[in-house]
Amino acid sequence: MAAYALGVLDEEDHEAFQSHLMTCEECQVELRELSEVPGFLDGVKRDRSNALDDDRMPH
Ligand SMILES: [Zn+2]
Repeated sequence: MAAYALGVLDEEDHEAFQSHLMTCEECQVELRELSEVPGFLDGVKRDRSNALDDDRMPH
């Protein structure tokens, strides 16, 4: 479930999960809760780009 939210599933797993999601109320609720965590997804992207910036910038 968290793997889906983080976008790390491959295409086949992603489609399988989306099909499951249509019929599974539990997963729909979980996905909605995850997507409502402030900065949950943004934080992951920001951490990655900061790490890249640190490698590029002279200290
Ligand atoms: Zn489910």
